[in-house]
Amino acid sequence: MTVRPGSGWPADPATSRTPVARDAGDVVRLASSAGSVRAVDARVSVCRACPRLVSWREGVAVSKRRAYADQEYWGRPVPGFGPADPRILILGLAPGAHGANRTGRNFTGDRSGDWLYASLYRCGLANQPTSVSADDGLVLDRTRIVATVRCAPPDNKPAPAERDTCRPWLVRELELLWPDVRAVVVLGAFAWVGLWPTLRAIGVDVPRPMPRFAHGAEVTLGGRVVLGCYHVSQQNTFTGKLTEAMLDAVFARAAELAG
Ligand code: SF4
Repeated sequence: MTVRPGSGWPADPATSRTPVARDAGDVVRLASSAGSVRAVDARVSVCRACPRLVSWREGVAVSKRRAYADQEYWGRPVPGFGPADPRILILGLAPGAHGANRTGRNFTGDRSGDWLYASLYRCGLANQPTSVSADDGLVLDRTRIVATVRCAPPDNKPAPAERDTCRPWLVRELELLWPDVRAVVVLGAFAWVGLWPTLRAIGVDVPRPMPRFAHGAEVTLGGRVVLGCYHVSQQNTFTGKLTEAMLDAVFARAAELAG
């Protein structure tokens, strides 16, 4: 059986008329002029500004993991998942090579996602505990998930220049979402470090020096709360550094803040 893109793939708002970013300057121009979250989704999902990441994401989509050999990979930047007016924003690192880069939806189809969505379900923020494909019926409640860097990087490590090139997409998305957001859950130190200049760029008065990352950290910013959380990577969940109870405590707090 060959699994092909169809109803199971993320709604793809990009059309043949969607402008394609091919370098950092294009990203700045196209992100800043995107008039809606949907426009950000469309433009970011066809971005080709980082040559190394474009090559990697598309190469993985061709070579594939053996277990998914009969599936067609998304192999593109992964846009945000969830409503365009969330009360809770979850900020991750980057798509997983055989998870979101395969399914086209953040944290979908890998072990990290198993942990994340099970916790969101337990905390009343998702309608089901599993996330296996883009057509599995999963709906988030008041919650949107975005990545700091939108393309799968080798070894899950984007280069600083790639993080900086991608930042305008996050800046514009955050700018559009910020009026509704009440809590930001930041998964891991990479996303934590990336958040503060992004907030500064949209005019939020952020503390100096930058708050230190810690699991359970809370930083209040003019009616919003930024929550630190260990990343749901296997490195943390397999070793017991992050337990289900620890993860649930963060999302229960976020749900409380969301009202
Ligand atoms: S990482 Fe971001 S800026 Fe770079 S190609 Fe992907 S979407 Fe574009």
